[in-house]
Amino acid sequence: MTNDQGVPSNVLVIEDDVPMRRFLRAALENEGYRVTEAGKAREGMTMILGHPPDLILLDLGLPDADGMTVLRRVREWSQVPVLVLSARGQEYDKVEALNEGADDYLTKPFGVPELLARVRVALRHSARIKAGAGEGAARFESGDLTVDLGARRVTAKGADVHLTRTEYRLLALFVRNAGKVLTHRYLLQEVWGPGCELQTHYPRMYVAALRRKLEEDPADPKYLLTEQGVGYRFTEGT
Ligand code: CA
Repeated sequence: MTNDQGVPSNVLVIEDDVPMRRFLRAALENEGYRVTEAGKAREGMTMILGHPPDLILLDLGLPDADGMTVLRRVREWSQVPVLVLSARGQEYDKVEALNEGADDYLTKPFGVPELLARVRVALRHSARIKAGAGEGAARFESGDLTVDLGARRVTAKGADVHLTRTEYRLLALFVRNAGKVLTHRYLLQEVWGPGCELQTHYPRMYVAALRRKLEEDPADPKYLLTEQGVGYRFTEGT
């Protein structure tokens, strides 16, 4: 995979587990990415500052510092996509990392197709933001669903869909972040604003409403997926 200048995207892997690092390097290089590695947080920070990568794969459990510390420091000055690698059972850490600005997460163990899909989505999203299109008139089209944010028009199942203001705001946020997992807290902040952080049932209610209007089978959604204990992910459907 190449970036907008036609050179291979640089992926920095910050992970202390050697077999895991080897697995990531092999999978990514095989796909045409350039890979650099760091086994510790400090080393990783030095590499980020010396040669900013296009994407970071960050393990949360590092020997010299918490991966979260690396994430917070990076986010002080950079919007480089960060995918967090978390162990099973670290649900809280994962959510916190997403709230602190991580783009996505992979729960170990994961397979090559899942890794490559997440990396592709994160790089595409970051390229869109760099091109200044992140907040612009995005258009989403997949199967029977079309969302035209410029024209404020949504069609699904062969007909125009009428959404309430809040439903539309929520859907627009999902479309702008297609492929990315959005936490409950992020959704509450962005759609409902300050003072609503504790109204955790809002996203659930409104996602259910959107599913009824957009999904062929609301009980088995294709576009608006639940990320158990974390939030939701809007996908292109399969
Ligand atoms: Ca580790």
